[in-house]
Amino acid sequence: MSKKKVIVIGSGFAGLSAACFMAQGGYDVTVLEKNSSSGGRARKFETEGFLFDMGPSWYWMPDVFEHFFEQFGKKVTDYYELVRLDPSYQVVYSADDKWNIPSSVDELAALLEKIEQGAAKKLKHFLEEASVKYQVGMKDLVFKPGRSLTEFMSLDFFKGLVKLDLFTSHAKHVRKYFSNPKIISLLEFPVLFLGAKPQDTPALYSLMNYADMQLGTWYPMGGMHKIVDAMVQLATSLGVKIENNQTVTSFDVEHGKVNNVKTESKTYDCDVVIAGADYHHIDQEVIDAPYRNYSANYWDKRTLAPSSLLFYLGINRKIDGLKHHNLFFDEDFGQHAIEIYDEPQWPSKPLFYVCCPSVTDPTVAPKGKENIFILIPVATGVEDNEQIREKYFDMVMLRLERLIGQSIKPHIIYKRSYAHKNFMEDYNSFKGNAYGLANTLNQTAILKPSIKSKKINNLYFTGQLTVPGPGVPPSLISGEVVAKEIIKNLSLN
Ligand SMILES: Cc1cc2nc3c(=O)[nH]c(=O)nc-3n(C[C@H](O)[C@H](O)[C@H](O)COP(=O)(O)OP(=O)(O)OC[C@H]3O[C@@H](n4cnc5c(N)ncnc54)[C@H](O)[C@@H]3O)c2cc1C
Repeated sequence: MSKKKVIVIGSGFAGLSAACFMAQGGYDVTVLEKNSSSGGRARKFETEGFLFDMGPSWYWMPDVFEHFFEQFGKKVTDYYELVRLDPSYQVVYSADDKWNIPSSVDELAALLEKIEQGAAKKLKHFLEEASVKYQVGMKDLVFKPGRSLTEFMSLDFFKGLVKLDLFTSHAKHVRKYFSNPKIISLLEFPVLFLGAKPQDTPALYSLMNYADMQLGTWYPMGGMHKIVDAMVQLATSLGVKIENNQTVTSFDVEHGKVNNVKTESKTYDCDVVIAGADYHHIDQEVIDAPYRNYSANYWDKRTLAPSSLLFYLGINRKIDGLKHHNLFFDEDFGQHAIEIYDEPQWPSKPLFYVCCPSVTDPTVAPKGKENIFILIPVATGVEDNEQIREKYFDMVMLRLERLIGQSIKPHIIYKRSYAHKNFMEDYNSFKGNAYGLANTLNQTAILKPSIKSKKINNLYFTGQLTVPGPGVPPSLISGEVVAKEIIKNLSLN
């Protein structure tokens, strides 16, 4: 009997993960990717001897990557060398107040104790609680397909639920332990990865602090795209076919089933479709109106994670004072957050992040030069043009040079910017979002856009706009969850 055909749309982490699990389950899998290379938001580009990761730069939750490869009889080390960064990162509060966050929790506790009396003991307690959330959240909650409340009915899960702090905000939770504003910002920063304000993020997500401080910040030598290369290698070895430059434009639907998927140049027969491209794009722009899962109004009311203004810079000399990861918290995050979420507009005095992977990895820049990536979180849906980008470039360079006491601008030999317009053109991103849908309480689990179409029987969704949410580890999990759900459902038919 010939194998059932699965079309996966998009070769981001979620699409690649789903493709691997479907192939392992005995399906004939083809991935259709709009761009000329795999990886989606985690693609890379190379120019003038510099190698830039275009999106993710923080490798957190190494256990999730290990778990992914383990299920195919592989280990992370079969594909790339992972190093733990120490310091994990640097936080710059002002030119003469910079914290190097040590990878050792004991050393971190000692650092915080110097700032706030009693903080060392409190940090240990805070992390013990966060550890429970990580165990329950990452082992149970994130692997639920989020299709029905009954998934959450097991006694063990309910016992754990009490400890999950779903109904308190992360902001309140942190303030229960600490009062120093710098310590608070240190503990609030990781939830920014989830795309919402700490005030709107359930305290469940202090599990991110556990990931940060206990599990550590890692780096795959060669760059973050090494994860993509590894997944492509694995997928190919499982028989997955990946076709680049194939933009999916429409589906032929008959009797509540997609019979084939059309790209600009080809038509592909299929038994199952897994949409790993941005959910909103497939739902509103690829599917014909009668078959859409949600209305335009539904999408307009979603809280999106932010977009970003990015600069990829090649510098013709080494720069002192930068670590691999650098957070610039020299301005008030409260105001920046209002300008991202409550009153969307270009920020007046944004916080920003600088990644300098050439501190760790000599392969990403020519000898004696530096590879720098600057990220400014910005509201989705705002106007994006060259003039605005340049205004922010000048603003941030001025601050960066002052804060680290180094001249950088005259030494730039390569510069590329990237923002809303590029996210929309390259990924069909809704309102130019960078990280998908925010993990607020009313966008958690069954309240996320569903992984299964309500109107098309053989259509499923994966990726950062559905369960479990934004980030590389959640995207890997999302692909696994959807593939296992499909395999389970098909075996029942
Ligand atoms: C700047 C930035 C920094 C980030 N930093 C981090 C970080 O440090 N750590 C972390 O864990 N996460 C980070 N993230 C988040 C993380 O990168 C994403 O959550 C994750 O990569 C999303 O994967 P995905 O598979 O859901 O989507 P995507 O990567 O967007 O994949 C979707 C794919 O679908 C394709 N596609 C779209 N439309 C079509 C179509 N019509 N036909 C065919 N293909 C189509 C797209 O080209 C794309 O390849 C960052 C993201 C960005 C943008």
